[in-house]
Amino acid sequence: MANKELPTHARAIVVGGGVIGCSTAYHLAKLGWDDVVLLERKQVSSGTTWHAAGLITTLRDTEAQTRLAQYSLQLYSDLEAETGQATGFINCGSVQMAMSDDKAEEMRRGCAMARTFGVDNQEISPAEVKHLFPLAYVDDLVAGFHFPDDGRVNPADVAQALAKGARQRGVKIFENTAVTDVLYENNRAVGVRTDQGDIAAEVVVLCPGMWGREVGLMAGVDIPLQAAEHYYLISEPIEGVHNQLPILRDPGRGTYAREEAGKIMLGFFEPVAAPWAVDGIPTNFCFDEIQPDWERMEPHIELGMQRLPILLETGIRQFFCGPESFTPDHNYLMGRAPFKENLFVACGFNSLGILSGGGAGSVMAQWITDGVQPMDIWDVDLRRIQPSQNNKSFIVDRTVESLGIAYQMHWPNRQWETARNVKKSVLHDRLAAAGACFGESVGWERPNWYASPGQTPEYEYDFGRQNWFENNREEHLAVRNAVGVFEQSSFAKVLVQGPDAERVLNRVATADVSVPVGKVVYTQFLNIRGGVEADLTITRLSDDRYLVVTAAFTQTHVSAWISENIPPDAFCILTDVTGAYAMLNVQGPNSRSLLSAISSADFANEAFPFGTMQNIEIGYQSAMAVRISYTGELGYELYIPTEMALPVYDQLIAAGSAFDLKHCGYHALNSLRIEKAYREWAHDMGPRETLLEAGLGFTAAWDKPDGFIGREALLKQRDAGPLKSRLVQFLLGDPEPILTHNEPILRNGERVGYTLSSGYAHTLGACAAMGYVNNDTGVTAEFINTGEFQLEQADRTYSAQASLKPLYDPTSIRTRS
Ligand SMILES: Cc1cc2nc3c(=O)[nH]c(=O)nc-3n(C[C@H](O)[C@H](O)[C@H](O)COP(=O)(O)OP(=O)(O)OC[C@H]3O[C@@H](n4cnc5c(N)ncnc54)[C@H](O)[C@@H]3O)c2cc1C
Repeated sequence: MANKELPTHARAIVVGGGVIGCSTAYHLAKLGWDDVVLLERKQVSSGTTWHAAGLITTLRDTEAQTRLAQYSLQLYSDLEAETGQATGFINCGSVQMAMSDDKAEEMRRGCAMARTFGVDNQEISPAEVKHLFPLAYVDDLVAGFHFPDDGRVNPADVAQALAKGARQRGVKIFENTAVTDVLYENNRAVGVRTDQGDIAAEVVVLCPGMWGREVGLMAGVDIPLQAAEHYYLISEPIEGVHNQLPILRDPGRGTYAREEAGKIMLGFFEPVAAPWAVDGIPTNFCFDEIQPDWERMEPHIELGMQRLPILLETGIRQFFCGPESFTPDHNYLMGRAPFKENLFVACGFNSLGILSGGGAGSVMAQWITDGVQPMDIWDVDLRRIQPSQNNKSFIVDRTVESLGIAYQMHWPNRQWETARNVKKSVLHDRLAAAGACFGESVGWERPNWYASPGQTPEYEYDFGRQNWFENNREEHLAVRNAVGVFEQSSFAKVLVQGPDAERVLNRVATADVSVPVGKVVYTQFLNIRGGVEADLTITRLSDDRYLVVTAAFTQTHVSAWISENIPPDAFCILTDVTGAYAMLNVQGPNSRSLLSAISSADFANEAFPFGTMQNIEIGYQSAMAVRISYTGELGYELYIPTEMALPVYDQLIAAGSAFDLKHCGYHALNSLRIEKAYREWAHDMGPRETLLEAGLGFTAAWDKPDGFIGREALLKQRDAGPLKSRLVQFLLGDPEPILTHNEPILRNGERVGYTLSSGYAHTLGACAAMGYVNNDTGVTAEFINTGEFQLEQADRTYSAQASLKPLYDPTSIRTRS
């Protein structure tokens, strides 16, 4: 299209003409957006999209990602009828192969979960795999899993069909038009600058694929991703190879295979990947390929060919290498850009952009239109990202590991091995000396469990009891019976200050923060649908000063949420003080006596009640002590100026032995809180579940003078009769099985939901879990009490007790006395 036609204004501008940009523009138009412009620096699909393999496989890790893939599958099969442009869709099905019992177990668990979402699948024998794909070598297989509805497409045609569909609905697409800046007024995106001139807009959507990090730096948004070499080969024609052969996914060999015009395409997910163009993508990149590194890839080619031995005799017609972008946690980067208005992002698809593309565009368009995401997609939400993850060396090093991750074992508690030690608490070395086995959360090294003397603090992964099970039991029981110390310096801490701080927080928080100085308020933030956006504590430090504390991984989201809800006329500022305070959490019935032994403060129940804060002294040092609990026991969180943390820790440990103090890790925190049915945001509740469904209606101060965001939606739900979905706690009858999450919940044999978080409830003596139970006529206490519940794991089911109240200390006597 000629450049002179570039408009000066559009309602929405989509940047990038890959599958994601085209899908977003198409869906915006479908939702009635009548003035959408898509800008592409070169040509539609000329980035990564054109050369993708086009597998559309629907077994994914989470419900949201499964739904995106299911939607794409349907859309791509329908698009030709709508637009006249074929997508190359072939419903050939797919087969995933398991070469070990562990992989078969992982697949059985995933398949049970996928059936809950309507993904048809069956376990098949190696002989049946052979029957479906006669050229496959199957003697090393334990099992296969068949997904008859899966298929494949021609990705370049998908992008063209979406672009055509978008044009038919009025979208204007301008190729050879590079966006060089995003224009803002007070952090509100108001348009873009291009190499052809400026365009004003109400909304800007960045879909720049592997250019994401660069475009993000230009727009002032952290979009951490890195391109890596990504390979497949295409054989010479082979007799008997036809397009109804299913896609073969072969995680044991890190490969996949499918038919390609009478030939075999063999693709690779090697465990050690090669980042590409770390100093910047060549300016003129357009339908380009990367020179393949035969030497590096040779062992992987050989390994992959053993699955289809005929390839060892057939020539290779093409060995293709193209770039694809990967993110720090192998999840996409989608949604509203934090701290900006009217700016959205969708990129970083980790080699899943075609199969997710249809759904991703639909979600983006609904999100932009409604201001709320249509489903809970926190695991791919851009707001989980923190600035440290956009560090160049970090993302380059992490990409080496993240490309291959999809085809490796998905062990419970698997830890990243690359790009570690980004953030360490000042107590790190002390904790390491105490035997800490560290895990990573948004760059923080955190003690997950402590090894016993003589034991190596390293994970040995397993689907059953892992090597830290006994350590966890001892830590868990120490908190129940004596006292434990958790190092939680990674918790995000934000000061909210100013004469209007109270007004601002009262509007975003469900609870009333108009409380006396020193009071700690447990609360949630909600979206306009009443969905839970954050779960946190707010402590009033003075008339115009509050301390907001939230989990490390929600730091960006929570800060952005408050900032974006500060009215223009309000005087309220946020200061992140996470690094200024270390945090030691002392929990358990002996915590009062232990702290009394090292501090002159009065920790008696009357002097220091539950839900309050006091400034205390410990030796020459000072700390804010907050009496609160995430374990179900009496306990105190100590916020200590970082430079004083070491001496406070040393005094605590020195005094601790008299009170049976034990170091405890995040796994113990998790098992304790699950036993007590304390919810964790992003696991047990999120933007999709309302405060009432999550069972946290007690935090809502319904009659606050200015209400709170989400109140009206909640009131409507409250008045509409029994809730149709409610969070329920489960406890297995059998003490042996280990639940992880995503186990389907059966009531009287019928699927009514699936578990979200689970852990071993060492006091109650079996695994506990939480999950939503759904019922169209209402989830009442009677519905729960009259049902026979079971949890399904792989090909097994376990009887479970179900309860709307916490099964451990339901009246919370222990935390409050
Ligand atoms: C070998 C290989 C095999 C693959 N196989 C599969 C598969 O089987 N299934 C699957 O689901 N996925 C697969 N993928 C991944 C898939 O191709 C990508 O995830 C997907 O194409 C990403 O789409 P995108 O729109 O985000 O990026 P792109 O297609 O790269 O589009 C981004 C566009 O933005 C444009 N752009 C960037 N900056 C600007 C700017 N400043 N101004 C204007 N325009 C800009 C670029 O020119 C580009 O066209 C594969 C990838 C590779 C490399």
